[in-house]
Amino acid sequence: MTMTLFDHFKFTFLDDGFCARDIVDQKINESTSSDDKDAFYVADLGDILKKHLRWARALPRVTPFYAVKCNDSQTVLRTLETLGTGFDCASKTEIQLVQSLGVESSRIIYANPCKQVSQIKYASAHGVQMMTFDSEVELMKVARSHDNAKLVLRIATDDSKAVCRLSVKFGATLKNSRLLLERAKELGLDIIGVSFHVGSGCTDPETYTQAIADARCVFDMGAELGYNMTLLDIGGGFPGTDKFKLTFEEITAVINPALDKYFPADFGVRIIAEPGRFYVASAYTLAVNIIAKKVNMKEQSGSDDKGNVTSDRTLMYYVNDGIYGSFQDVIRGYEHVTPIVHKKMKPDELMYPCTIWGHTCNDLDRIVELCNLPEQQVGDWLLFENMGAYTVAASSTFNGFQKPDIHYVMSRSAWQCMQQIHGHCKCESTLEPPA
Ligand SMILES: *Cc1c(COP(=O)(O)O)cnc(C)c1O
Repeated sequence: MTMTLFDHFKFTFLDDGFCARDIVDQKINESTSSDDKDAFYVADLGDILKKHLRWARALPRVTPFYAVKCNDSQTVLRTLETLGTGFDCASKTEIQLVQSLGVESSRIIYANPCKQVSQIKYASAHGVQMMTFDSEVELMKVARSHDNAKLVLRIATDDSKAVCRLSVKFGATLKNSRLLLERAKELGLDIIGVSFHVGSGCTDPETYTQAIADARCVFDMGAELGYNMTLLDIGGGFPGTDKFKLTFEEITAVINPALDKYFPADFGVRIIAEPGRFYVASAYTLAVNIIAKKVNMKEQSGSDDKGNVTSDRTLMYYVNDGIYGSFQDVIRGYEHVTPIVHKKMKPDELMYPCTIWGHTCNDLDRIVELCNLPEQQVGDWLLFENMGAYTVAASSTFNGFQKPDIHYVMSRSAWQCMQQIHGHCKCESTLEPPA
């Protein structure tokens, strides 16, 4: 049964005992009798709920402002709106999108330190006040273009241990921070706090500790200059799956003591964060179809004790998505994508080394350079899990290939839990995620 609650909140209830993976199987079974074997997603909104409960348990002092750029699906945004998160928007269009769901402007932070003037004016006209900056030029633009900005100074972090480094592009040094605070004072601007981003795919939680300590330094500088800053924004960078080098809880176990040390509760500071990947990565499974295949043969074969064929017989599969579509993150090396074979394997089936290529005519369009799979045929399906972050949102229709359809699902128990949270309008740690 498909539920439609609002314009942008359509999903199918999972029957009792069914999970998202069963829906993937069902769609694939339906496709066997037809030629329509387009790639598709199944997105489990209940997984987003589980992440939300996990957040509330692990970071009870920190309000999440979901980073819209990570996945701007209206159904995802509606889910998070229902759960009561705030939103990190980086552009006029993202602000528009979030406001069209009825989100109040106090739940929006315009977290792009380098903004186009017309978009600053748009934020001003639509009541969005919180915004980040990291330069003097930005301060002057805001002074001229916004009536009532509440500015958040973005500081640089040591992101050398992150996969996607952001401090090359954004963030003021501590020395510059003082100058910026002074300049803002002269311009009569209100600075309400400090933000940072440790980089996406952060592998060293001590980066957060150092950044939190630096933020406290800037709070103290601000106090000397007469500012009463009340907001700390610890940004994003939290892992979206448990396959990452560090779990979310291993990171929060380092963050919490740092917050308690540098921003104890009686310091009176509101703490927010801008998680993107954390909320959506694991909710999405992508199914792609093998549209073409080549076999490269060389002599000499054998097999090792794991059943991997040690010959030079390698296979090349071409599938109907690629790095210009859902896999653009692959070239950044963040997630190792590992295909899962959909077809049931026979007990003693041999594994062959293979390469998986995307469907465009571009040479860069390679999804997996080398993996071992049982031999597949054209028409077979491969699944990729954890495909919710920076996939659909970053994909193009290069070469005329359309984006995969997304089928949203949710269990009834997840739905009920979401309604309870919505009723309380706050995440309550007593709520258990559905089994
Ligand atoms: C991209 C981005 C985020 C989200 O980062 P994740 O690593 O996905 O959590 C948060 N804040 C800002 C300013 C960003 O640019």
